[in-house]
Amino acid sequence: MPSQPAVSVVAPCFNEEAVLPEFLRRVGAVLDAMGGSSEVVLVDDGSRDTTWEVMSKAAADDPRIVAVQLMRNHGHQLALTAGLSVCRGERILIIDADLQDPPELLPDMLALMDGGADVVYGQRRTREGEGLFKKLTARVFYRTLSRITEVEIPHDAGDFRLISREVLDLLISMPERHRFIRGMIAWIGGRQVPLIYDRKARVAGESKYPFRKMVKFAADALTGFSVAPLKLSTSIGWFMAAAGSLFTVYTILGTLLWGQTARGWASLMAVLCLLSSMQFLMLGALGAYLGRLYDQSKGRPLYMIREVTCTGDRPVEPLRGLGWGHRNS
Ligand code: UDP
Ligand code: MG
Repeated sequence: MPSQPAVSVVAPCFNEEAVLPEFLRRVGAVLDAMGGSSEVVLVDDGSRDTTWEVMSKAAADDPRIVAVQLMRNHGHQLALTAGLSVCRGERILIIDADLQDPPELLPDMLALMDGGADVVYGQRRTREGEGLFKKLTARVFYRTLSRITEVEIPHDAGDFRLISREVLDLLISMPERHRFIRGMIAWIGGRQVPLIYDRKARVAGESKYPFRKMVKFAADALTGFSVAPLKLSTSIGWFMAAAGSLFTVYTILGTLLWGQTARGWASLMAVLCLLSSMQFLMLGALGAYLGRLYDQSKGRPLYMIREVTCTGDRPVEPLRGLGWGHRNS
C-alpha cells in the first residue's frame, strides 16, 4: 500500500511554459529543505503552448511530480478542483504556478497548522506588479461581497493557502459547478488563520485572467454565496411603487386643477426607460441563477481528465482512461 505524502502542492497551469521550470525549481527546493514525503500535482488546464510537454517530462523524471492533463480549458477553479481531487497529501498547499505567491512560505504555514489551524490562508499586504484597475476592482468586489454574504470571506486573500485533509475532503464533497473555492473554504469554517505576505509580480508570462474571466469569476462568487440580487427586485419594486404613487397624484392634480392634458412627454419617457431597464436588469439576475441551476441539474462531471503522467508509487487505477471525471451527486 503506497504511503500518503505529508504535503501535496497543487498548481493549476494555463499556458505557463514560461514559468513552469522556475516554479518547479523553487517548489522543489522548498520541499527538499523540509524533508519528509511530498508530491507536486500540476494540472494542465487545456494549454495551447508546451505546458503539457514541460510538466509531463518533469513528472517522468521526478517521482514526486504528478502531471494531469484536462481535455480542454475548464478555467482556474475547476482545474484546481481536478488537482485537489487527485492529490493525496495530509496537508495541501494551493498555489498559482506564476510564483506571485512565494512557495517559501510553506514551512511557516505548516508551523501554524501544527499550532492547530485547519486552514492557513495567505493574506496580501501588498500586491506588486498589478495594475490600479485590478487592485481597485478587487477591493470593491471583496467589500461588496462581504456586505451581502453571511459567510465571512477574508479580504485581500486569493486561493493561496494550506488546508488540512479534513477540510479538503469536505471541499471535494461539495458538488457545485460554479466554484468560488476561497469562499467555499471560508464557508467550511474550522480554525482559519491568516499569514500576511507581500504578493510579488508574475515571474514570467502574462495574466491568464482577462476581464471576461474576472467578470465570470465575480458573478460565480456573488451568485454562489448570496441571493441578494434576487431580492433586489423587491426593493426596487417598493421604491417604484412609492414613486409611482406620488407621480399618479401629481398627474391627477395636474389634469384636474391645472388642465395639463398633453404635457409630460419627457417625464413619461424617463419613467418608461427607467422602468424597462430595471425590468431587464432583474430578468438578467433571474437568468443568472436559473442558468446556474440548469447547469447544475445536468449533473455533468466538473472536468475531464485526458491523461496523467506519474512514476511514483501512487495507484493509477482511478486516474486512467479518457474522460474520467469528478462527480458528486
Ligand atoms: N489558470 C488556469 N486556467 C485558466 C486561467 C488561469 O489554470 O483558465 C491558472 C494560471 O495558470 C495560474 C492561476 O490559474 O496558475 C492564476 O492565474 P493568473 O496568475 O493568470 O491570474 P492573476 O494572478 O492574474 O489573477
Ligand atoms: Mg497570477
